[in-house]
Amino acid sequence: KANRMFHPEDTVVDVAGVKIGGQEKIVVIGGPCSVESREQICEIAKEVKAAGADMLRGGAYKPRTSPYAFQGLETEGIKDMVEARRQTGLPIVSELMDAEHIEEFVEHVDLIQIGARNMQNFSLLKAVGKIQKPILLKRGLSNTIEEWIMSAEYIMAGGNENVILCERGIRTFEKYTRNTLDLSVVPIIKEKTHLPIIIDPSHATGNWKWIESMSLAAIAAGADGLIVEVHNNPEAAWSDGAQSLKPEKFKQVIEKGRMIAQVV
Ligand code: PEP
Ligand code: MN
Repeated sequence: KANRMFHPEDTVVDVAGVKIGGQEKIVVIGGPCSVESREQICEIAKEVKAAGADMLRGGAYKPRTSPYAFQGLETEGIKDMVEARRQTGLPIVSELMDAEHIEEFVEHVDLIQIGARNMQNFSLLKAVGKIQKPILLKRGLSNTIEEWIMSAEYIMAGGNENVILCERGIRTFEKYTRNTLDLSVVPIIKEKTHLPIIIDPSHATGNWKWIESMSLAAIAAGADGLIVEVHNNPEAAWSDGAQSLKPEKFKQVIEKGRMIAQVV
């Protein structure tokens, strides 16, 4: 179902009125790694909106490497995201880690993220295949393009064809960056599938300093959008502060990115 051969036109996924894929306009998603409080997410939501973002991200259920690290505000965090959407009108994106929370996400979240660590959680993929909400499917940490497309196929085979792919960097021998951004996937995914693809330069690099250049390169390569971690006080962020942009910088990236999008 994902195969371009049987579906030559680009798929356009509609996320609460924001259209991704096959458009001249790129879609930009910004927000913190984790929702930390209602005040924090509502403040950042206003700042990312003012910067020109189309959607708000914020994790409420967090897949942390250490069980002792902050695990997310869970249901409270989802409610805080809903409040941030009410105040700004921005559609909201959040990660679903377990099928047990699927009803909560169907009710409240506009774009349901399946994180890198769950890219091959086939029971979770089957579960989100049975709903109609758009799914943001991140590439696994060490997964091939074929495996990633097959994971999209799991969701689509169940009847949910609203899938957006997201490259977020893969594991290589290189330790200088958190992961290695594989930008070659953009033209390859566009050749092999009709699905929209966005780039996450934050998890790919692990350092805010490299977000701008990788964002611009992603757009030049033909990506349909970006998902960027943004925090108003990155030094104090509860997760991923080092790779989070301040809102002013995020605004610059969007402005430059939209200019590049016009010429590609
Ligand atoms: C995230 O988006 O906060 C996240 C955990 O991403 P990934 O699954 O790509 O590591
Ligand atoms: Mn993060």
